[in-house]
Amino acid sequence: MRVGRCVAARANPARIAPRWDNWPVTALPTPTLTHLTNADLHCHSTVSDGTLEPEAIAARAAANGVELWALTDHDEIGGQQRARAAALGHGMAYLTGTEVSVTFAGETVHIVGLGFDEHSTELREGLARTRGGREERAREMAAGLAQVGIKGAYEGALKYVGNPELISRTHFARFLVEAGHCSDTNEVFRRYLTDGKPGFVPHRWAKLGEAVGWISRAGGVAVIAHPARYSRFTPTEEYALFSEFKAHGGRGVEVMTGSHSAAECIKYAGVAIEFDLLASRGSDFHAPGESRTDLGSLPALPGKLMPVWEALAERVSWPE
Ligand code: AMP
Ligand code: MN
Ligand code: MN
Ligand code: MN
Repeated sequence: MRVGRCVAARANPARIAPRWDNWPVTALPTPTLTHLTNADLHCHSTVSDGTLEPEAIAARAAANGVELWALTDHDEIGGQQRARAAALGHGMAYLTGTEVSVTFAGETVHIVGLGFDEHSTELREGLARTRGGREERAREMAAGLAQVGIKGAYEGALKYVGNPELISRTHFARFLVEAGHCSDTNEVFRRYLTDGKPGFVPHRWAKLGEAVGWISRAGGVAVIAHPARYSRFTPTEEYALFSEFKAHGGRGVEVMTGSHSAAECIKYAGVAIEFDLLASRGSDFHAPGESRTDLGSLPALPGKLMPVWEALAERVSWPE
């Protein structure tokens, strides 16, 4: 395994690997070949709330033509070595990844971390603290569901859990579908697992500055995940999220992601330029038949954006 060959150089050998780090995205020329790279930098395995093992996701990504991949399990990096080994085995380049749960302005925001050193003690301890409390929350969620007549939800959700520290709403959603309470997981979230509904339990996650700091100090880049999903934010709160994220050292935003409409992709391409942020692309794939967007199937990043992987060229693990 080699670490640190430049993506730009691979895509176009005629170009000498530049130092991109301090380039504002607004200074970019028209689209380069690097925009053709099929990077998928957001998805989940059984190490968090996906249904496939890291090796199976690697195989699926490779079969779908992904060239650069990151496994980004929620609040957890326990699958990184398996994911990297499987990626390299399939001839895919690999970046380390995680998706950190953060509480900002009373809402949950997700921060994807890419290209960090997975041995960072600060990052590992921060993620372990963020995972803490999930079990107690899950028991409270089950109690709330029992009050509306849904029995055994904790035990039912546990059957779907691959990592005991990472019981999540997704596992409850799968159980409620299996038990016939809803026809799909989206309906479960709408009826039972969102704010004000019987199975919703508010939780205090990491602080924005903590998550960004852990990722950045471990040599990685912090990225605001699926920004269109924070629909409860007022425009002022959304502006505060982006400006505070930058002030803490955050550098990227997901422009292309499975849950964005075409209009939202265009909106956040504009936000990336306005805030001078690197742009990321990731399916947020969780499970076959459950996730709308498969690995590697998103459109390319719109032109004029700086792909986040350009800034992480030295952190990429390349297959031999
Ligand atoms: P948790 O970290 O336990 O709060 O669970 C959050 C996870 O629930 C997210 O990572 C998604 O995988 C899933 N999720 C959130 N909202 C929805 C939704 N409306 N439909 C389906 N899955 C959702
Ligand atoms: Mn998830
Ligand atoms: Mn997310
Ligand atoms: Mn995700």
